[in-house]
Amino acid sequence: MPKFEPVIGLEVHAELATLSKMFCGCPVVDSTSAEPNSSVCEICTGMPGTLPVINQRAIEYALRVALALNCNIAETSVFARKNYFYPDLPKGFQISQYELPLAQNGWLDFETENGERRIRIRRVHLEEDTGKLLHREGYSLVDFNRSGVPLLEIVSEPDMRSTEDVKVFATSLRSILRYLEASSGDMEKGAVRFEANISLRPLGTEGLGTRTEVKNLNSFRAMVKALDYEIERQDQILAGGGEVKQETVGWDEVRGVTVSQRGKEEAHDYRYFPEPDLPPLHIDPAWIDRIRIELPELPSEKKARFVSEYHLTPYTADLLVEERAVADYFEVAVAHDPDTSPTKIANWLTGEYFSLLNLAGVEIDQSKVSPQSFAELVAMVEREDINATSGKEVLEVIFETGDSPIEIVESRGLAQLNDPQAIMDLVNQVLAENPKQVEQYLAGKTTISQWLFGQVMRAAGGRANPALLRTNLEQALKILEESCRSGG
Ligand code: ADP
Ligand code: MG
Ligand code: ZN
Repeated sequence: MPKFEPVIGLEVHAELATLSKMFCGCPVVDSTSAEPNSSVCEICTGMPGTLPVINQRAIEYALRVALALNCNIAETSVFARKNYFYPDLPKGFQISQYELPLAQNGWLDFETENGERRIRIRRVHLEEDTGKLLHREGYSLVDFNRSGVPLLEIVSEPDMRSTEDVKVFATSLRSILRYLEASSGDMEKGAVRFEANISLRPLGTEGLGTRTEVKNLNSFRAMVKALDYEIERQDQILAGGGEVKQETVGWDEVRGVTVSQRGKEEAHDYRYFPEPDLPPLHIDPAWIDRIRIELPELPSEKKARFVSEYHLTPYTADLLVEERAVADYFEVAVAHDPDTSPTKIANWLTGEYFSLLNLAGVEIDQSKVSPQSFAELVAMVEREDINATSGKEVLEVIFETGDSPIEIVESRGLAQLNDPQAIMDLVNQVLAENPKQVEQYLAGKTTISQWLFGQVMRAAGGRANPALLRTNLEQALKILEESCRSGG
């Protein structure tokens, strides 16, 4: 029986982070919270006789993305009308780019569990968003606030071969959009939307199978689940000798299945033709050069630098560079305290600190923990001024109050107990207080030493140097064992 491999291409729509819309001066507002139809005009509601004007900032953002994706930029590109009727599209057509897109033939490189991957980018073009329908009991309302918001469409070649590829491609792309400040990348608000085209083909063959287009992927998690489902569904059809139907399917998050939405429309259904109200878009090569020079260090470059400069593992570097604000925070912390190992700072950051931020739903640049305080905290743990458990406690307090770590350690009496004699006294005290457990230990139940460790740590108020505690406890138990064997 032939085994099949998945073939996947993504279409990505990103709302550009401009202040005003694509072809009019209306402010871009948060369409999930603003009063409906509060930011509309005769242009973005498609009144007859109005004329669109291209938003230059939108083009600049699009060029940043196209350059970061290694695309060729067209000196001349053309806006076209994509004609179709829908209540959220007042003009009866969407202005988009079709035959002559802004940019073509790029690529995005990234690393996955399966090694280095390169996904080719077919095209990057500009278009405008539609309005939004709000469905009520028995009728629908339409909000045109989103109508005319600049959208960037990025289309990949069908180069992905697994859901892992898709996940890493999509997260890398979102991360790049955010680094470039071209889009907020906010998936929950629909500022980036992913659609996946997926087909299967017999392993070892090169042709393309019949695909379905999967929509309604509102999170990376949903995307992975939907594609896993679709791979399994198509596999069963093909393995049974059947044929996959070319169609658009929607992911039903609640039921965990894809549902057929409609047959696939073809490009000729849209009757594309050049937008007569807009001139061809000429781009000055000097402008492209300027934007290229001003591109920030991108996530993949930052990752390579973090690995070579700070000797981080690629895995840790990945966690740090996904968000530019996190990467910057890390570098400020490292620079603040050159004596503390960057790996220790990175581990505390991606471990304890990330979980605090996630739990509270706070972004790192909104946190009360300054990178300087954070570096001081990690340094205190590394110098063994405090132990790791106290370190966690201190981090939580800084997170709540913004106080300095040194003050917190002093006011809470968290300084680590490093005096061997004091620790030995506590060990002896605990052994004396727990004769039954000591007896069990001596009878061969060695796991009880872990419990005794915990008791001593408790007696020390959680402040004991754990390594010293362990050696002292082991030593005390050994003495007991020997005296027991010698019949003492
Ligand atoms: P459409 O115009 O219908 O959206 P395109 O040919 O532009 O179709 O392709 C859209 C996306 O689908 C691209 O990302 C492309 O890589 C992907 N794609 C095209 N054919 C296949 C296929 N047979 N299997 C998987 N993905 C495909
Ligand atoms: Mg499509
Ligand atoms: Zn408007």
